[in-house]
Formats: sequence, structure tokens, C-alpha cells
Amino acid sequence: MKTYEIENDFLKVCFIDYGGTIIGIYDKQNGHENLVISFDDVNDYIIEGEPYLNSLVGPVAGRIAHGQYELDGKIQQLSINSHINHLHGGQSGISKHFFKIVLINDYSALCSLRTNHDGDGFVGQFDYQVIYRLEDSKLIIEYEATPEHRTILNMTSHLYFNLSGDMKSSIEDHLIKIEANKRMTLHEDEYPLNIVDLETDDVFDCRNTKKLSEIHNSFHPEIVNSRGLNHAYLLDGSIYLMDEVSGRQLKLTTDAPSAVFYSANYFNDSYILNKRQRGYPHCGIAIETQDIPNGINVVDDKESFIYGPHRVYRQKTSYEFSNLIKGK
Ligand code: BGC
Repeated sequence: MKTYEIENDFLKVCFIDYGGTIIGIYDKQNGHENLVISFDDVNDYIIEGEPYLNSLVGPVAGRIAHGQYELDGKIQQLSINSHINHLHGGQSGISKHFFKIVLINDYSALCSLRTNHDGDGFVGQFDYQVIYRLEDSKLIIEYEATPEHRTILNMTSHLYFNLSGDMKSSIEDHLIKIEANKRMTLHEDEYPLNIVDLETDDVFDCRNTKKLSEIHNSFHPEIVNSRGLNHAYLLDGSIYLMDEVSGRQLKLTTDAPSAVFYSANYFNDSYILNKRQRGYPHCGIAIETQDIPNGINVVDDKESFIYGPHRVYRQKTSYEFSNLIKGK
């Protein structure tokens, strides 16, 4: 396993070839504090399944209900690796592969991978190219994937944020604003079930800034069942995450149609994170920009979820960090 870094005056991003996983995003203007959740020991990133800590995810991010979808009149069966569902590409997903890394210059890098995912029910070769690039106080991630045959495909970066810096506190007091008028409900088996409008009195409505604890402490059955947020929103604009104590703000902008918010609900004390701290539920929040998860089983326009040699998958997402107190 090798470690790489890119940096500019504002940010330093460290990552490894395994899963193209980011192992730290450091705020150079404010004490070099780490703004993501990280394992202390890089070897801990080599793990089967959960928690996909800051790794790239594909060929399919999120859950495909029962691992099944229909393509050209035939039912395709993917591996089942999360209860009754397929999750995050399975054992052969890209988070479990070594990428080839090329440093383009001080502030950008290309991660590429050519592989198959035969063991998880995907057909043919897949070519992935992901660029990490810094632009002032922004980290930009650009994805491109070309499958050899027609298939579903949906990529994300599983970055878990905690803006307090070095995981000084949980994310319960972080403020969130999501410019989204619709969200997806979760089946009790945790796969995205359907798309619903957000009402103003709805605990899931984040069009006005609210504290994450307000959502986590609600008795909404879907929150209780998943022990916190594990939900997709259909985006109409940007996403804002704020920590009033440090003054840090993350503004996330993407051309992907949705984002899944997962507040580390199943983190436990076997994870050693951010300078010898034990993991715990809600110590960070993953914001996973992507196509509508399980979309092929939910949305009428099935073809929009199919990629292949004639339709390359692309996504561009920007994470802009600023400090509201210090005015940067
Ligand atoms: C899923 C969670 C899962 C997490 C880590 C999220 O995208 O929705 O259920 O635990 O990733 O794998």
C-alpha cells in the first residue's frame, strides 16, 4: 500500500492506492486539523465490507434491493453482501482494489483502475478514472467509468466528514442544510424504496438549516430503524454542513442527482480513529453524491441508470471548505 498527497495553500489531502481511499483532509489555515474521520493505522483500511471509510465506491454505490434488477428483459442477480441486499459493489467493489495513482502536479492526481467484478454478478471489464484536484479551498472529485457491456453503474466517494477538526466532538451539533425538495423512503430492510416530497413539518426536511441531533433524536420509524440518517435526497441545489464551534462550513455542489447521508450509525469502539479515539455512532457523516440509489428498481426511466461502451458514466463533485468565523 502506498500513500500520496496533494496540497495547495488551503488544503492537504492524503490518500492511498487501496480503494483510492482518502486518509486525511487537513485544513492548513486552521491548525492542520483533519476534517474527515480516519483510521490511525492505514492497514485498518484493508477490511471486508463496512465502513467504506473515505473510499471510492463502485461499480454500484448503495443498496440494490435483493441484488436484482432487470436489463434488456432479463433479471440480473448481483451478490448479496448486506442482509438481503447488494451493497457498494460487493467483495470485488472498487473500494477493495489497488488503483494506479499518477500525481499530475502538486494539487491533482489521477486514480485509475481496470478490473472485472465477475464474483459479484457484473459482466465484463470496467475502466475507472477518478481525479482528485484542489482549487483554492475546494476539493474536486471527477469520476469517469466505462463498462465493456451494458450494466447499472453508480459511483461515489464515501467521505465521512466531521468539521470540529480531528474529531474533537460528534456531529450531533453540526448544522445541515440540504437544498432538496424530495427524499427517498427506506424499506425496513434499508434499501431505498420510493421518492416522496418533503413537507415543511417533516423531520427529514432540511431546506432550512437544522441540527443533525434534531433528526437523530426524532422517533420517526425510519430514523429509529436505521439508528440515524441513512437516506437519499434528490438534490435541487447545494448541501451545507456547518460547525458553529470551529466556524467551519462545507459547501458541497455536484452534478449528480442525489446524495445519501449516512451518519456512521454502526460505528463502534473497535475502530481506532483520529489520534487514538474510539469510533462511536454519529462520530461523522458520510455525504455520498451519486445517481438515485436503487433507482433502476424505483424510477420509470430505467435506461437512465444503464451505462456501457456507448454511454460513459461521469460525475463531478466539489467540496468547498470555508471558515465563517475567520472569514475565509
Ligand atoms: C449505507 C450504509 C452503510 C454505509 C457504510 C452507506 O452508504 O447506506 O447502510 O452502512 O454506507 O457501508
